[in-house]
Amino acid sequence: MSRTFPLEKIRNIGIIAHIDAGKTTATEMILHYTGRTYKIGSVDEGTAVMDWMEQERERGITITSAATTCHWREHRINIIDTPGHVDFTAEVERSLRVLDGGVVIFDGVSGVEAQSEAVWRQADRYGVARICFINKMDRIGADFQHTLTMINERLRIKALPMQLPLGSEKDFRGIIDLVENRVITFQDDSNSTSVKEGETLLAEHRQALIENLAELDEQIMLLYLDGQDVSVSQIKAAIRRLTLSNCMVPVLCGSALRDRGIQLLLDAIVDYLPSPLDIPPVSALDPKSGEKILRLASDDEPFSALAFKTVSDPFMGRLVYLRVYSGRIRAGAQVLNSSTGKKERLGKLYVMHADHREEIDHTDTGSIVASLGLKMTSTGDTLCEPTRPVLFEPIRFAEPVLSMAVEAKSKVDQDKLDDSLAKLAMEDPTFKVYHDKETGQTLISGMGELHLEVLMERIFREYGVSVNAGKPQVAYKETITIPVESEGKFIRQSGGRGQYGHVWLRIEPGERGSGFEFRDQIRSGAIPKGFTPSVEAGVKSALQSGGLAGYPVIDVKVALYDGSFHEVDSSDMAFRMAAFMAMRDGIDKAKPVILEPIMEVEITTPNQFLGDIIGDLNSRRAHIEGIESRDESSAIRCLVPLAETFGFAGDLRSLSQGRASHTMCFHRYEELPQDLAEQIAARVGRTR
Ligand code: GDP
Repeated sequence: MSRTFPLEKIRNIGIIAHIDAGKTTATEMILHYTGRTYKIGSVDEGTAVMDWMEQERERGITITSAATTCHWREHRINIIDTPGHVDFTAEVERSLRVLDGGVVIFDGVSGVEAQSEAVWRQADRYGVARICFINKMDRIGADFQHTLTMINERLRIKALPMQLPLGSEKDFRGIIDLVENRVITFQDDSNSTSVKEGETLLAEHRQALIENLAELDEQIMLLYLDGQDVSVSQIKAAIRRLTLSNCMVPVLCGSALRDRGIQLLLDAIVDYLPSPLDIPPVSALDPKSGEKILRLASDDEPFSALAFKTVSDPFMGRLVYLRVYSGRIRAGAQVLNSSTGKKERLGKLYVMHADHREEIDHTDTGSIVASLGLKMTSTGDTLCEPTRPVLFEPIRFAEPVLSMAVEAKSKVDQDKLDDSLAKLAMEDPTFKVYHDKETGQTLISGMGELHLEVLMERIFREYGVSVNAGKPQVAYKETITIPVESEGKFIRQSGGRGQYGHVWLRIEPGERGSGFEFRDQIRSGAIPKGFTPSVEAGVKSALQSGGLAGYPVIDVKVALYDGSFHEVDSSDMAFRMAAFMAMRDGIDKAKPVILEPIMEVEITTPNQFLGDIIGDLNSRRAHIEGIESRDESSAIRCLVPLAETFGFAGDLRSLSQGRASHTMCFHRYEELPQDLAEQIAARVGRTR
């Protein structure tokens, strides 16, 4: 097997943008230049190539990440589409996990918005190298410098312009390329005044770029101090080094809609973003010993890959998207899913393009491929060579914050509904389905109203089931606030063989967002290791419903540290029960509280409505974090409890004559004020 493409010439990137910043349009233009699409689709007409799901086209937003492969200057660029809407944070999270680099697109009029900030922080967590593209330079109100300042300040990163726009809004005539030392005027405007104006700006700002680079990069500094000329290739190499080490981000500009600056953007992707060889070796665990293993990006290493997305295609079946981290593999080969411990066959392999798929017989390190035929592999699972098992850290997903009851409009469709819900939940880890035994209802939960709405629409379109949905309900959680030790005994003597399980658990509050952690700290042999999984199962089932109002208990650390057993009477069931009892008592003693989801909301409004909107926010228990004013309008950044956001979109519209806009994304869980917690506990009135 020979390599399909040189590893150093692969770029696995994502295009990250706030909704409406122009990601779809820019992707379209990229695909146009890289030769994969011949007719440019326009988002406004709803024919974008990347938005391949019918309903995405209608909404004009990209929801699922489609992986697209294209080529530029003998490099292969795999674009993993990331959604702009933070209601779909799972999609963002899973793409960031497998990307090496990102192009972050900003709207040159509105600058850095709350959701871009949220995604930027996520990208920081994954150490993704980035370049910024300030789009829509042709729009009224476009302001390059303002957006650049916002990137520096709000994203707390050194952002250096590689280009400057020549004019803006209707007068956007060209791009001053500080790196290549040239002025590019657009074909329809190459008069000599533009060129002169550009050259003056170029002379001024190129020197500033070199000085800025000298401050950050030693090689440029030495040249600069020596008074030597710094060549274009030396500048590019320095920008690449600094981008890869996340010391700064290069900033470009243009207009995707008017086809300005896209080829320069493609050049920058090739020149500055990492190949799989530039990122650190991925660290994994030996699934048996728990020891750390590193997998280098090399075809000679054992095969390892991460499943980062699963899609049920109504025609093809189940496609699993893989990022290959090391080694190579043939289509049809047997692999180990080390997350489930089961072996599976890979089936057919495809390279996915936006408009067609290309079947391949093998794949190698650094590739993004889709596989058909993996039945038991879900998002986040590791696939590897069966004789050399490794386990990657699973992708962390946020817990759903909103739930609602659903039923099929027609009774005969109920089975079909259950089936389709189960399939969607397999695809999307932030979408959960459960059946409430007490009420007999089917409840679904997700990351926001839009998330659930989109899923209901998919059920209608893809599975032909119409759904009645109840009112959305906030997914409250419970947690504990102090550490406790708790004993649980399940001992029964009923003639014949009895039951004997006895545990001591240490139960502590975990950090917000940490979920649940279980450790076995028994050293003395007080309980044989074989019973540990049953203890953990008992702990988990107790966490499903807390003592205050029956909501799931999150962010707890539990350690099993002592207990006892009986040679004959001890059983898995007895230990599960003992752990369950210890947890129930322990949680009650550990000063439990109710948690509610808090949303990060950003509102942009003409100044005349500011007072009324702030008044409305105050009535919603909002915490206002900042108000930025610019010309005639202001942006309010605030945190609002999810429970208070229902109906907000409509109220905002009527308060501002439809002129204010807002975005909303999940921020974190916070303790519910005491009086509200009591009301909820009384209303839910559920006792265990
Ligand atoms: P996405 O939500 O980030 O994918 O954004 P889209 O690509 O769908 O663009 C949102 C809207 O902005 C559409 O109406 C586009 O036509 C428009 N748009 C995108 N790029 C530009 C641009 O460079 N200039 C102007 N004036 N409009 C643009």
